[in-house]
Amino acid sequence: MLSNDALRPARIMVVEDEPKLAALLRDYLQAAGHHVECIDDGLAVVPAVRAAEPALILLDIMLPGMTGLEICRELRLFSEVPIMLITARVEEVDRLLGLDLGADDYICKPFSPREVMARVRAILRRRPVQSASALQLDAHTYRAHFAGVDLDLTPVEFRLLQCLVAAPGRVFSRDQLMNHLYDDHRVVTDRTVDSHVKNIRRKLDQVSEGVEMIHSIYGVGYKLELNGI
Ligand code: CA
Repeated sequence: MLSNDALRPARIMVVEDEPKLAALLRDYLQAAGHHVECIDDGLAVVPAVRAAEPALILLDIMLPGMTGLEICRELRLFSEVPIMLITARVEEVDRLLGLDLGADDYICKPFSPREVMARVRAILRRRPVQSASALQLDAHTYRAHFAGVDLDLTPVEFRLLQCLVAAPGRVFSRDQLMNHLYDDHRVVTDRTVDSHVKNIRRKLDQVSEGVEMIHSIYGVGYKLELNGI
């Protein structure tokens, strides 16, 4: 279990068109346990953030398609995702600060990966306590994100969580949950549901230790509570 808040894994988007730099950042971030998505085309960033908002974006300014500044402005129209701008010139920072783009930090090339990682930790530490909206399920892709991190659920785990999320506070029996999980009415035991719930809890716990979202109701089944999450 991760006890240090700063080490909670996060989904981080690296927007950088220089392959070597992108790979360097990706390697350091992955070594710290983060999930990294690399994008090298400026035009692909806004749609990607709309589809699944990361916990942080490292955003190069000089990009093909659309500059980091334009991207930053557009993202701020609908998102408060933390953004760290990467500029090639140290003297550029004062000008960028003056533009008030809503970026959270700036880093200059050439940068030391250690310095980038320190700043990434500082930004991630400021992540707010999860709100109800911190849990996002996408029924089209079968991906569930909690606090911006992909929970990496199996399809069955996704459907179980989807069922509970559809009616927070409602208690579902194991039978009801099983009917939702399997279309083919296969015979499964109560323990099947229990083991799926256990796996989902473990995956949630990896993102936010001690989070209690799925509650067991003795003799009945399970319910999901988002209060206080
Ligand atoms: Ca560039």
